[in-house]
Amino acid sequence: MTRSAEIMQRARALFPGGVNSPVRAFGGVGGEPFVVERGEGARIWDVDGREYLDYVLSWGPLVLGHAAPVVLDALRDTMERGTSFGIPTELEVRLGECITQRMQHIEMLRFVSSGTEATMSALRLARAATGRSRVLKFDGCYHGHADAFLVRAGSGVATLGLPNSPGVPDAVASLTLTAPYNDLAALAAVATRHGNDLAAIIVEPVIGNAGFIPPDLGFLPALRQVADQTGALLIFDEVMTGFRIAPGGATERFGVTPDLVTLGKVIGGGLPVAAYGGRRDLMEQVAPTGPVYQAGTLSGNPLAMAGGLATLTALTPELHARIERRTASLVMGLREIAARRGVPFTADHAGSMFGFFFRAEPVRSFADAKQADVELFKRFFHAALERGVYLAPSAFEAGFLSAAHGDAEIAATIERLDEALGAAL
Ligand code: PLP
Repeated sequence: MTRSAEIMQRARALFPGGVNSPVRAFGGVGGEPFVVERGEGARIWDVDGREYLDYVLSWGPLVLGHAAPVVLDALRDTMERGTSFGIPTELEVRLGECITQRMQHIEMLRFVSSGTEATMSALRLARAATGRSRVLKFDGCYHGHADAFLVRAGSGVATLGLPNSPGVPDAVASLTLTAPYNDLAALAAVATRHGNDLAAIIVEPVIGNAGFIPPDLGFLPALRQVADQTGALLIFDEVMTGFRIAPGGATERFGVTPDLVTLGKVIGGGLPVAAYGGRRDLMEQVAPTGPVYQAGTLSGNPLAMAGGLATLTALTPELHARIERRTASLVMGLREIAARRGVPFTADHAGSMFGFFFRAEPVRSFADAKQADVELFKRFFHAALERGVYLAPSAFEAGFLSAAHGDAEIAATIERLDEALGAAL
């Protein structure tokens, strides 16, 4: 028995599925997850000493790679002065300033500790500010596991084929409306029918939780227009796309400004940080300035703030552009491999986020994504893993690059994935 298998056996006695977040259990690809021991740069090593080039990067946060020296130095320095106070620190202000300078439509923000908290709180605020109850989300988008969002969700919910979650009362689920992503006719229909009761429209500006699905040219502007016409607030859930698809996120990349934004992942550099923010008049309604209650014992935790600040400080526009170029090379390489082997394939990227499907036609919605060859993906995933490339263990998750994925790593990855595809066919 490998050491990974032995540890997973103990884990399964303790945690549902042996994991503390569902997709980690490899349910989407079958087989047994490995147990990780350490990471450095673009690589991780499991407890049996096997090395992998990592394209999951803790599901997105590690834009500088594993154990980035600037992040570790900042953590060490901060840690020596104490790990948590529950009193304001300058680090919160510095990270807040760093974010608002790059995303100027975020006039005010609040730090929380997970993306789930961020989206849940943004929706509460939208409901309070509009005095309305309903929220519109899009099929395959994942916005964390708060009750309102576990309706036709992506990520693990999609991976495991779960439609909605038991435990979410019908009364709550019925307030969540859904429409297919990139479907303007469906959007118009919801606006006509429920516009008067719509508190918010929430969207992943580029979907990363149903695989990687970019918006059609007119989709995000149409959301802005419907929000304006109906009086609903537009929420960009940039937990995944923030500081990944452009230095200023979706607003910079697509020129559409939401009312509220949620952030997570990269802004913590691998520590638990997320945030919601946006228009000042809205954020001033949050307690203690306003009546909309939201709080957190560890919110703005100094270690987490230091991790995020070190990460964003290092992530200059030049570095962002370099990682984006390498992501483009990887995607190009993948397309070439598939074309040479005659495999139906589509792949794309935005910034340092990428994805692919075994399907000839472009994927514009979750329904399209489900038409892809998932069985081939499973075989490809395992063949890649055997060759030391760790892709997200689900056909419905995006991949990520870091600053540590250099040209040599990309070349090695393409070579190994070429072999892996050959083996998977
Ligand atoms: N929103 C999006 C777009 C996400 O990708 C995720 C997590 O993957 C979340 C929200 C939830 O974040 P967390 O897992 O930190 O609760």
